[in-house]
Amino acid sequence: MPIRRVWIEEGCISCNLCEDLVSEVFEVPAGETCRPKKGHEKHLTANPEMDERIQEAADSCPVEVIQFEAE
Ligand code: SF4
Repeated sequence: MPIRRVWIEEGCISCNLCEDLVSEVFEVPAGETCRPKKGHEKHLTANPEMDERIQEAADSCPVEVIQFEAE
């Protein structure tokens, strides 16, 4: 199912893993916690390869705060 929305819950420990895996969608500004990157929505285009990478980032997050909604 295509991913249409991503967000980060509280508790990010700024490990940078998600940004390393999907830099089009996640960013971890210096000294801050992760957030969906400005303009990331344009990458949520029912692209199975991108959806797989976002899923992998969510599965790999050590504190499991990456959330997404698929339709
Ligand atoms: S992988 Fe998880 S803990 Fe690490 S920067 Fe991303 S959201 Fe934060």
